[in-house]
Amino acid sequence: MAYVIKDTCISCGACASECPVSCITEGDIYVIDGGACIDCGSCAGVCPVDAPQPE
Ligand code: SF4
Ligand code: SF4
Repeated sequence: MAYVIKDTCISCGACASECPVSCITEGDIYVIDGGACIDCGSCAGVCPVDAPQPE
């Protein structure tokens, strides 16, 4: 399983610096590389709009 960033993302960037495996990158919105995500939930913990959700 991996986390996925929903389209409610406001591109604040807070999650990217919290990810221990640096698998979050900026696109149209921020995007998680599901193959690298270790499902730690740190991104969800810092997101102001709850955009990262377990897949
Ligand atoms: S759940 Fe953890 S490893 Fe996966 S994208 Fe979020 S911060 Fe990174
Ligand atoms: S913390 Fe939430 S709103 Fe900010 S870039 Fe990450 S997913 Fe998007």
